[in-house]
Amino acid sequence: MSWKDNLRKVHPYVAGEQPDFMDMIKLNTNENPYPPSPLVTKQLRQYDSKDLRLYPQADADRLRAELAQYYRLSEQQIFIGNGSDEVLSLSFLTFFNSDKPLLIPDISYSFYPVYCDLYDIEYKNVALTQDFRLVFADYCQPNGGIVFANPNAPTGLAINLHEIEYILQKNPDSLVLIDEAYVDFGGQSAISLLDKYENLLITRTFSKSRALAGIRLGVALGNEFAISKLYDVKNSFNSYPVDSLAQEIGIASILDQKYFDHTVKKIISTREWFKASLITLGFELTDSKANFVFVKHPKISGKELFNALYDEKIIVRHWQKPRLNDWLRITIGTDDQMKRVAQFLKQYLEERK
Ligand code: PMP
Repeated sequence: MSWKDNLRKVHPYVAGEQPDFMDMIKLNTNENPYPPSPLVTKQLRQYDSKDLRLYPQADADRLRAELAQYYRLSEQQIFIGNGSDEVLSLSFLTFFNSDKPLLIPDISYSFYPVYCDLYDIEYKNVALTQDFRLVFADYCQPNGGIVFANPNAPTGLAINLHEIEYILQKNPDSLVLIDEAYVDFGGQSAISLLDKYENLLITRTFSKSRALAGIRLGVALGNEFAISKLYDVKNSFNSYPVDSLAQEIGIASILDQKYFDHTVKKIISTREWFKASLITLGFELTDSKANFVFVKHPKISGKELFNALYDEKIIVRHWQKPRLNDWLRITIGTDDQMKRVAQFLKQYLEERK
């Protein structure tokens, strides 16, 4: 039997551990420490389970309309899918292909090369600087594609609108896909550029700033042609965009702007004091604009710190990869959780002296 060649290349993305034990402080997958909006809870309680016998609304019309109003775009500029992972994978499938190379920063969301291998898309890793910055001049790919996360993961570093425009202008024939999974925590969104650049596509998620990772709701924002093509491809697999419940919950979340602003602000302020306390302890940090920090200690390996935290029932993210080995990515939890992490690290460093 001769199997398809690219099957050998495919190594699925491995997400952070989801431990069963409830006493763990789970800071490894950038989930929101606060519950979703109370409007979501109300919507769930009111939902009549008898309606689950029916197929979902095929165009997710009401959710699309709410999102259009929220983002100040037309409904035809909005694509809805099962988490931004699905939206990203469909975008790769729809717009990138083997004779149009794709540029990806060499340190970024590790799902991107997985999609490339799966769909046989040629890609080039573009090196970040020593301090994990993009070199803008390196992002020029006539008739190909570019993908990056802004803020980036796992560094949390963000680029501004001028820098984004520079990339868009240098690549008029290439689709520039910007993954804005973390943008609500302090980055600059490229949404205002959508009217000006037809080569721009943006993905967003409900998993982080809206505390709905368990629902699987993600969005692509782009020009009407690109969005209609995404729907054509998506509907060739499954003509229902997302579950009925996800549609109702998404609407409830979008409608509660006050709660959203409040929790996002809270996470940002926790991040800033946590950063300051790690600096006092001698850690090196990037200037993360996301709901996580990216840190390393100049004298202690990432693995040692990961294990020490794990023994203390604090789970963070560590990669056994060159350049990332000494770094940890720590999700921002509640104030109490982050105080416990900071206190433990202080004590650990003192005992190790
Ligand atoms: N993009 C980035 C950069 C991420 O870190 C994640 C979360 N792992 C996602 C996209 C996917 O998020 P979701 O599928 O939950 O929307």
